[in-house]
Amino acid sequence: MPPRAPIATLETHEVTNQPPPIAAYNLYDSDPILRAALRREGAGWAERRVRGFGAAVGEESVWALAEAANRYPPELRAFDRFGHRIDEVDYHPAYHALMTLAKRHEVHSIAWTAKRKGAHVAHMALEYLLVQAEAGVCCPITMTYAAVPALRRAPALAAEWEPRITAPEYDPRCIPADEKSGATMGMAMTEKQGGSDVRAATTRARALGDGAYELTGHKWFCSAPMSDAFLTIAYGDAGLGCFLVPRWRPDGSRNPFLIQRLKDKLGDRSNASAEIEYRGTWAQIVGEEGDGIRTIIEMVHHTRLDTALAAAGMMRQAVVWAVHHAVHRRAFQRALVTQPLMRNLLADLVIDWATATMMAARVARGFDAPGDPFARIAVSIAKYWINKRLPNHVFEAMECLGGGGYVEESAMPRLYREAPVNSIWEGSGNVICLDVLRAMARAPDSLDAFLAELDAARGGDRRLDAAIARLEKDLAAKGDREPRARRLVESMALALQGALAVRFAPPAVADAFCASRLGGDWGHALGTLPTGVAFDEIIALGRLDQD
Ligand SMILES: Cc1cc2nc3c(=O)[nH]c(=O)nc-3n(C[C@H](O)[C@H](O)[C@H](O)COP(=O)(O)OP(=O)(O)OC[C@H]3O[C@@H](n4cnc5c(N)ncnc54)[C@H](O)[C@@H]3O)c2cc1C
Repeated sequence: MPPRAPIATLETHEVTNQPPPIAAYNLYDSDPILRAALRREGAGWAERRVRGFGAAVGEESVWALAEAANRYPPELRAFDRFGHRIDEVDYHPAYHALMTLAKRHEVHSIAWTAKRKGAHVAHMALEYLLVQAEAGVCCPITMTYAAVPALRRAPALAAEWEPRITAPEYDPRCIPADEKSGATMGMAMTEKQGGSDVRAATTRARALGDGAYELTGHKWFCSAPMSDAFLTIAYGDAGLGCFLVPRWRPDGSRNPFLIQRLKDKLGDRSNASAEIEYRGTWAQIVGEEGDGIRTIIEMVHHTRLDTALAAAGMMRQAVVWAVHHAVHRRAFQRALVTQPLMRNLLADLVIDWATATMMAARVARGFDAPGDPFARIAVSIAKYWINKRLPNHVFEAMECLGGGGYVEESAMPRLYREAPVNSIWEGSGNVICLDVLRAMARAPDSLDAFLAELDAARGGDRRLDAAIARLEKDLAAKGDREPRARRLVESMALALQGALAVRFAPPAVADAFCASRLGGDWGHALGTLPTGVAFDEIIALGRLDQD
């Protein structure tokens, strides 16, 4: 809660020209782009629930939780006070409160429990709102959501675990999962010698019979280590397998899950990321030995959706804070929001956020049909591009606040530190671009589905038509694809955003997007839109009712 009635008349000066704190607001109701996308992409039925969550995460008390969860990061407790090994992590109560809020509102589960079209779009909307409240908890929530399709490759395991992990309960106790009211899932793939190159794993799996194994090895990054179970990969005799590692063995003893240390990270500070070792660790195989990558990729595919949509959510947050400040702050006797150059910058920020959100929602719709070819390729394109735009987007929004934006109390630094992580995790930029090339080569129907989406917008804007024609030429050029992959994926992302904008965005956004991103009437920094853009109309999309 902001302090009530702070004193503005001080002995040496009067405090003036400072924006008021943002009061509680509904993050859903205030977001016209999300509202339209939710309905358009097939999740209108979820509106009441998403609106309820938008109100919940917009409470001032939730902002305070987010602040505390990041100010007091988790601590490793490898041993209890008597020297017994426990490998537990202590979190601030604020973290647990945020996890409870997210699980109660089914951010992790609605995609699986709703059992109707648009369920992944509903998930997209909830997670997009959650990230605006606090980004760190999105990691365990995302992994819990994304583990489901991988687990389904082992029906018996899915029958045991799915009810626990889709339960709307958060139970932070470190006890066996079958004694808990709800469970969370983590993922442990990355090893010291190679993260992107999953086949470089050195962890070994020794079969014990009946689908049980014993693992020996390490994982260099394992986030949310207090999750109840982890999907991990290791080599068995028949090749790389995907395994489920619970924190507890079936006999009720602690499974060796040796947390060596917690990472001291740039951002994502409310969330723990650990280095762990397996020493004779009990595990169950998910799917077949030798089929590990195909199994874990089901989880990766879904985490990639969240890494894309989370970046769009963070853009929304940056826009709201920048616009709010510019509305209330005056410089040179005029409100910043009325100054032409500031208007250009704010509008450019809004355009990035709006088109990122539309793209994330469209991609999410593809997830409703397992194996959807559009989702196969578009999720990588969206993850790459939105995350590439995000750090600079947040930086420019921060600069709108001037020096105050650089100060922790503004929460802008927290957002800025969060900004790079979703680009690195689950396929870093280059790897994601190579994945797009792989999709085009191995699943040509994914490219067909992608081009069909562009086709639907043809004729809507000549600059979009020209961009699609250029893209088709680039796609047809077969030679030297790998060094061109970033350029290619960027062009695909822009064409998709343009196509969605032309069909569905407010005309002012679509026109400015096509002029700048596709037509080239734009500079290298944000705030370089051409004159003639409908700045007010665009900026209004980032304005809260209280502004
Ligand atoms: C906060 C955080 C949390 C994380 N949590 C988890 C977790 O819970 N579980 C988990 O398993 N991992 C986790 N990771 C690890 C993350 O997924 C890896 O760091 C990532 O996959 C990259 O692997 P790497 O670090 O080994 O880098 P590398 O694989 O060595 O890659 C380094 C760079 O080289 C590039 N590169 C790789 N191959 C190529 C190529 N062929 N051509 C061109 N460029 C290439 C990559 O794009 C990257 O930029 C987390 C990371 C972070 C930062």
